[in-house]
Amino acid sequence: MTLNSCTKKLLEWYDNHQRLLPWRQEINVYHTWVSEVMSQQTVMAVVVIKFSDFIKQLPTVYDLAACDEETLRQLWSGLGYYARARNLKKGAQLIVEQLYGRFPQSYEEWLKIPGCGAYTASAIASICYHEKVACVDGNVIRVVSRLLALSDVWSKSGQSAIQAYVNNIIPAERPGDFNQAMMELGATICRKSNPLCNQCPLQEHCLAFTNNCIAQCPPKKPRRTSVNVELFALIIWHTPTDTLALVKRTKGFLAKTIGFPLISNNELLELERILDTLPKLQLLKLSKNFPHTITHHRISGKVLIVQAIEEHNDAALVLQKLGFSEYIYWIKTSNIVVKLATTLDKKVFQLFSMQSK
Ligand code: SF4
Repeated sequence: MTLNSCTKKLLEWYDNHQRLLPWRQEINVYHTWVSEVMSQQTVMAVVVIKFSDFIKQLPTVYDLAACDEETLRQLWSGLGYYARARNLKKGAQLIVEQLYGRFPQSYEEWLKIPGCGAYTASAIASICYHEKVACVDGNVIRVVSRLLALSDVWSKSGQSAIQAYVNNIIPAERPGDFNQAMMELGATICRKSNPLCNQCPLQEHCLAFTNNCIAQCPPKKPRRTSVNVELFALIIWHTPTDTLALVKRTKGFLAKTIGFPLISNNELLELERILDTLPKLQLLKLSKNFPHTITHHRISGKVLIVQAIEEHNDAALVLQKLGFSEYIYWIKTSNIVVKLATTLDKKVFQLFSMQSK
């Protein structure tokens, strides 16, 4: 196999088969940045829809830097991993305030932008500035591990071998197209299961295909042992106004997101002690659990409803005593669904709605 022939075939295939994605119509640094951040960990069909709405509402980096959290949350809803949106906004603020709206011009400069790791920086630098830096994401790891029939891809040396291989075959003339072609091949042809080898431009170069060991490449990633966690979501319901309290979570699971307060077993005991001193508040524990997974944590969630039948003050006091004093928002139940950014909060609200009907 000559590396050049492999690269050439890949680029020819990309020229004829690349997907028509909205950010590929013309090179625009802002669009490339937003699309790359959205595409990490979210399926492309969802990204395409959300990207268009996002750019329509926030057409420039200045709009993104100035947008309020509420708008950002709504625009990001459905994409998951909201921390990405927060970092995107932080990055926009840095570009506007410290770089006077001028985008970083190289891989090294993009690495200094919040939330921008090696993958995003190399994608933007290669696509927008034709810098010869190879992107290595999950798709690329899979393609290379199959091309070379690698049995070790997850160790440090395995990762270095993949990076070195891609660095070696990325062409100086079209680095951005090469990176996109590798990722596109992984996403559409060299798929995790049922790869379409008969349509693959690199079939004759592929050692896993030749040696009939595609299923073993890449080997399964060693898993972190999962941990079972019991978690309580607190719905503070002010019935006279039919509003629920959302807080800015500052610690633990889903920290830095806005949603229902989440408390542990120990904090539940504390909550019960607090409620003993506040007779106007009533506690109701829903019997149905909601299962949820965050990284390697397998959560068994329970919903607690604290009903406040008079003023907000007592309810707010409970939140403060539990350490949720930074931001408290009272939202009408009829408006709350659009304000919930995480799947966990949506599950909690669904159980609450079923109960309160
Ligand atoms: S021949 Fe099959 S396994 Fe090999 S790179 Fe192509 S799609 Fe992947």
